[in-house]
Amino acid sequence: TYVIAQPCVDVKDKSCIEECPVDCIYEGQRALYIHADECVDCGACEPVCPVEAVFFESDLPGRWQGFHQSTVEFFETV
Ligand code: SF4
Repeated sequence: TYVIAQPCVDVKDKSCIEECPVDCIYEGQRALYIHADECVDCGACEPVCPVEAVFFESDLPGRWQGFHQSTVEFFETV
């Protein structure tokens, strides 16, 4: 799955939402989140992000590992 990290916070450009073929990117209060079970790993969202916030899960920089957890928590509350 792909993950949206820190750079998205308070930006929420949403170009990724328009590109996603399966509509699995959801809007939270301060950032956008990719639903891990719905993402088909097409990668379409990654290049269109103006702040380069999208990473393949295993490529997520160490400093943003917490964002994987915040994504999990986001989907637990919706
Ligand atoms: Fe959507 Fe593809 Fe990005 Fe997954 S990788 S969130 S399916 S655009």
